[in-house]
Amino acid sequence: MTAEIIDGKKIAAEMRAELKLEVERLKKQSIIPGLGVILVGDDPASLSYVTGKRKACENMGIYSDDNHLPADTNQQQLINLIQRMNTDSKINGILVQLPLPKQLDESEVIMTIAPEKDVDGFHPVSIGKMVAGKPAFLPCTPHGIVQLLLRSNVKIEGADVVIVGRSNIVGKPLANILIQKSKTGNATVTVCHTRTKNLAEHTRRADILIAAAGRPNTITADMVKDGAVVIDVGVNRVDDPTKERGYRLVGDVDFEAVKEKAGKITPVPGGVGPMTITMLLYNTIESAKKTAAKN
Ligand code: NAP
Repeated sequence: MTAEIIDGKKIAAEMRAELKLEVERLKKQSIIPGLGVILVGDDPASLSYVTGKRKACENMGIYSDDNHLPADTNQQQLINLIQRMNTDSKINGILVQLPLPKQLDESEVIMTIAPEKDVDGFHPVSIGKMVAGKPAFLPCTPHGIVQLLLRSNVKIEGADVVIVGRSNIVGKPLANILIQKSKTGNATVTVCHTRTKNLAEHTRRADILIAAAGRPNTITADMVKDGAVVIDVGVNRVDDPTKERGYRLVGDVDFEAVKEKAGKITPVPGGVGPMTITMLLYNTIESAKKTAAKN
């Protein structure tokens, strides 16, 4: 069997078209959603993520307040900027691009963001609400994965889901969303990591297998059940002298072999990636709607 490809670019474009209509509706009520973006330093990957986010906001008609701070920015300068954004009524969501340079305390920075503007879903208040199954800003990558599954008609309820990776931004929140007693949950979830004994024994049970390890070929064909849905979150650079930039991007899954065994599979690039920014736009628009409803 050759797997059906879950086309993240197409699904993200569909969602963005729906969100654009939402932004147009809000504009008629004089509401323009706004996103405050903070990048500290010049890490090329972070710079490229932030550029992607700015362009996505522009295309959608979302106001974006972009702040590129020097690498030697101190904690107080960053806190002051976040506090200004917390009280700026044009800004509904605040995004601080991570990771931050070493001198900055990431945890304090996240805690400074007003929870009602925490569109990345990393503030402990957002995490607490998510775990308790209350309405919350869901972290963008896990939320995007859930949307990919739903929009590809994958049944989550009752499924055995195995997630490889337990990070705070992917594995842990995704497991939490999928176990909730809700339309996007009701799955039975196993979370694996580097101390898991016999990883393949777990992954072979999965109806839905999600790889978020950050290592190429973590998932090989012998680790996948026939017909399973395989979601590859990994983004890894591997040397490739045939490419002008000297590398290519691959996921955590041995795509060529696994696609012959899986029922559905996401490619890298073009799978999970395009959904992450889309969900950031979604959260920003939801935040603008909530603020408007309060006023
Ligand atoms: P991370 O913080 O490095 O976490 C990786 C997790 O995978 C850890 O829990 C680690 O276990 C586990 N792991 C690593 N190798 C393993 C192995 N061989 N067997 C079992 N578990 C293993 O990474 P992350 O931030 O979650 O990101 C994961 C990947 O997704 C990266 O490639 C990243 O670039 C990508 N990503 C993509 C998007 C997107 O939008 N497309 C967004 C976020 C992340 P331990 O906890 O035991 O160390």
